[in-house]
Amino acid sequence: MKIKSAEFIISNTDVSKCPKERLPEYAFIGRSNVGKSSLINMLMSRKDLAKISGKPGKTQLINHFKINENWFLVDLPGYGYAKVSKKKRQKFQSFIEDYFLKREQLVCTFVLVDSRHDPQKIDLEFMQFLGENRIPFCIVFTKADKLGSSKLNKQIVSYKKKLLQTWEEVPTSFITSSSTGFGRDEFLKFVDGVNQD
Ligand code: GDP
Repeated sequence: MKIKSAEFIISNTDVSKCPKERLPEYAFIGRSNVGKSSLINMLMSRKDLAKISGKPGKTQLINHFKINENWFLVDLPGYGYAKVSKKKRQKFQSFIEDYFLKREQLVCTFVLVDSRHDPQKIDLEFMQFLGENRIPFCIVFTKADKLGSSKLNKQIVSYKKKLLQTWEEVPTSFITSSSTGFGRDEFLKFVDGVNQD
C-alpha cells in the first residue's frame, strides 16, 4: 500500500463522537513512551502526524486519522503512566474500554511493546481484556534498532514463549523500528490484505 493521504479528523474522549463513517479502523495502543507516535509517523511517512510526546501520558484522547480516504488509523492514549492521577486514570480507562467494546468498525488493534522488554503485567492484562472480548489484535515490537539482531531475535522468541504460557497461540506480530523504517512494508501489506478481505 502506498500512503497517498493521511488526514487528521477528530480527537475526543467519547466513542459516540467518533466518526460515523463506516470505514475499517485500526487502533494503536501501548504503554506511554513505547514509541507509538514515532511508529505512526514512520508508517504513514509523515513527520508529525502523531505528536511525539515530550511528556509521557500527555495525549489522553482518541485521535482519528483518515488514510487514503478508505481506512481510519486511531491513535489511542498510552496506558500505564504513573504520574497521571488515579481519578484521571480511571476516567481514561473507562473511555478506552468503551471504545473497544462499542466501536463496531474496529478491525484490528496493534498492541505496541518495546522490543527490549519482557512481557509487562499491564500489557498482558490488556491483551487478556482484548481476548476476553474477542477483539482481534496484533503485537508490534518497537525500537528494534536498539538491540543487535541476535539479541532482538532472542528477546522476541522469549516474549512469545511467555505468551504461550497463557495463550494457545501467539497473535500475528511485527518487528519495527521508527528510526530505520524497518517493518513498514510488512505492516502496510498486512493492512492492505485485511482491507481487501
Ligand atoms: P509514545 O509516547 O509511545 O508516543 O512514544 P514516542 O513516539 O513519543 O517515543 C518515545 C521516545 O522513544 C522518543 O524519544 C523517541 O524518539 C524514541 N523512539 C521511538 N521509536 C523509536 C525507535 O524505533 N528507535 C529508537 N531508537 N528510538 C525510538
